[in-house]
Amino acid sequence: MENKVLIFGHKNPDTDSICSSMVHETLNRKIGWEAKAVRLGKINKETQYVLDYLKIEAPEFIEKIEEGQEVILVDHNEFNQSVEGIEKATIRMVTDHHKIANFETFEPLYFTAKPYGCTATILYEEFKQYGFSIEKKEAILMASAIISDTLLLKSPTTTRFDEQALYELEKIAEIDMKEYGLAMLKAGTDLNDFSVKELINIDSKEFDKEGTKFEIAQVNTVSIEDVLKREEQLKEVINKTIEEKGLSLFVLAITDILNSNSEIIALGSKTEVIKTAFGKELVDNKAFLEGVVSRKKQLLPNIDKNI
Ligand code: MG
Ligand code: MG
Ligand code: MG
Repeated sequence: MENKVLIFGHKNPDTDSICSSMVHETLNRKIGWEAKAVRLGKINKETQYVLDYLKIEAPEFIEKIEEGQEVILVDHNEFNQSVEGIEKATIRMVTDHHKIANFETFEPLYFTAKPYGCTATILYEEFKQYGFSIEKKEAILMASAIISDTLLLKSPTTTRFDEQALYELEKIAEIDMKEYGLAMLKAGTDLNDFSVKELINIDSKEFDKEGTKFEIAQVNTVSIEDVLKREEQLKEVINKTIEEKGLSLFVLAITDILNSNSEIIALGSKTEVIKTAFGKELVDNKAFLEGVVSRKKQLLPNIDKNI
């Protein structure tokens, strides 16, 4: 068993999961606690842009943990989005900005949940509360996470706390966040060398509503049309996933990050949920959802309510 407390974000890690784990490690060190950031999956291209920019390595990959392993969860709390073995881990701390579900511990813990646009914004506030100074590297890691989760503060998940944090972090980082952020987001939209199977897994999350399992995947793009060139193969792979995992619904959101809209592909036995949730009829199992960019605040709550 790893002696150190392990810090990690969700499976199919995004920029917030990776960057917040790394920043959390620094925060722990400053407090005087030994903990190590790790990751539960492949680094996506957007996050790779951040790591390359900072010339730093990604946290080590882990597949599962042993019974009793001490852990800190960031950017998630649901066990079905976490590491294999999480049910028997000792959860010391959670820092998250999602709804709380499918979560239970054996021991008391630090649990910080705020309905912000990004986990890194919560960490930014913790640095402030402890009176710790923020180094340039941590500033860029936190800013990158905020830019990623809020799509440069344009997502409806954005709060004034995220805006404030990014504004302050920009000063420490001494970079133009708009320019840097757009380049970072665009790096994440390069989907060409992904197979369709990889594509639906870049940013996918499973949910369980009283036994009804569904999954919402999202890909960012600057051209929805471009992604839809592979529509038939995508549908094939999604149907296979539904069968393998026993899902009632699979929604893939293809999100246009420049115009803030999403085209969704919905498959499964419960696709009628889309009509009730968004007032849009599926045509060819697709629908265009204007102004929809957030899984957390737009897709998930509406689907969850109606499924
Ligand atoms: Mg995340
Ligand atoms: Mg997040
Ligand atoms: Mg996300």
